[in-house]
Amino acid sequence: MHYISTRGQVPPVSFSTAVAQGLAPDGGLYLPEELPDLKPHLADWENLSYAELCEAFFGIFATDIDPAELKRIVARSYTNFDHADIAPIVKLDDDRYVLELFHGPTLAFKDFALQLLGNLYESQITHTGHRISVLGATSGDTGAAAIHGLLGKEGVTTFILYPDGRISPLQERQMTCTGADNVFPLAIKGSFDDAQTAMKTVFEDRAFAEEVGLSAVNSINLARILAQCVYYLYAFFSLPDDLRSDITFVVPTGNFGNVLAGWLVQRIGVPIKGFRVATNQNDILHRLFQTGTYELEAVAPSVAPSMDIQVASNFERFIYYAEGRDPARVREIIATFKSTGKYVFETFESAGFSSSRTDDAQIAQIIKDVYATYGYVADPHTACGFAEGFEGKEIILATAHPAKFPDTIESAIGQDSTHPSLEALKSRPIVKYSVEPTPEAIKAFMRAHV
Ligand SMILES: *Cc1c(COP(=O)(O)O)cnc(C)c1O
Repeated sequence: MHYISTRGQVPPVSFSTAVAQGLAPDGGLYLPEELPDLKPHLADWENLSYAELCEAFFGIFATDIDPAELKRIVARSYTNFDHADIAPIVKLDDDRYVLELFHGPTLAFKDFALQLLGNLYESQITHTGHRISVLGATSGDTGAAAIHGLLGKEGVTTFILYPDGRISPLQERQMTCTGADNVFPLAIKGSFDDAQTAMKTVFEDRAFAEEVGLSAVNSINLARILAQCVYYLYAFFSLPDDLRSDITFVVPTGNFGNVLAGWLVQRIGVPIKGFRVATNQNDILHRLFQTGTYELEAVAPSVAPSMDIQVASNFERFIYYAEGRDPARVREIIATFKSTGKYVFETFESAGFSSSRTDDAQIAQIIKDVYATYGYVADPHTACGFAEGFEGKEIILATAHPAKFPDTIESAIGQDSTHPSLEALKSRPIVKYSVEPTPEAIKAFMRAHV
């Protein structure tokens, strides 16, 4: 299978090339040239373990990786999870289920993709002998998950940009207390969008990208989207038969990577009913789904910081399909949005998505109510999935463990939320670097440290 860019200005590439590059050289995002049909496989996949399912799924997409090697890569990627089911489902009542995605090493859903990506990189480096420099921008959890996915990987140097003071202290400790000498957490003065914009400009410098072997771990990397597809499939199979196609997946959303993965699974033949995009007060996507206008506003820091995003990079992948797979249309929309901060879709199909918005006060109230009703502790991101006003059955994706946000949990329900892996970090020294959020400063720092 080959992969094309949403902007259509580069030739199709193999899976391994798409993963190694992250962002396509024309600034677009990679997608499969043709979408496969999973329907013929569903009966065979029904009873597979998580790792087996992941291997079968990637077997369809990663056609240039030797099957025995793929098996090893996948098997290694899901050994650091602290639950036997990897992605367990908790039933709250007949209408409400939770898909817990926080049992990986950094206690957020991003581990699913980044544990795998670390092993994919390692395998590539073994074959090519070329070192890789990973550059990412994080609103909190990606950085921690990337760093933990890449720790101890020979030939990889990791640089992670994050907005200083705008991620939780424990998220910062997960990135800065690793003791690893090939990991550089870079604190910038600015927002996550500033970090992401600077990062994208660095990627557009092709000479620099070649020079340092640049790769992206942000959710623009296709491997991340595909890895996230697997838990939608796994959840689909884990649900009781009569619920599978009668339940809406509710996804706390920032960069649109997680929910896009579910939507792709639906497009390739799995009869999922639909999706709800649950935003916090940074509601660009909620406004889009309500009005058809995609319009930038300033980021307002919230108690769910990993969703404090306005420019949702993966939205470009959705536009590609929504606009009839026409790269010229994608380029036009992205260019208009980039220059004016706004794009009005004349006809906007919601394509099976509904949406909701939850502000900080509502998040606190929801954490309280969910605890009182079900005895379940939802982290502030997951809480957005419990927004009111919807009918029908829902499965809410729990994207982070509540112990990552102890202050918000404590003030909502008066209880400490702890996790042993986080407690252990508190006695370790913090090592971080400060850089200006400009492409030049970032490139200079990277040149000095690869
Ligand atoms: C990253 C993250 C999100 C947002 O996911 P996207 O793929 O960016 O939409 C939500 N919750 C948590 C805990 C996260 O870490």
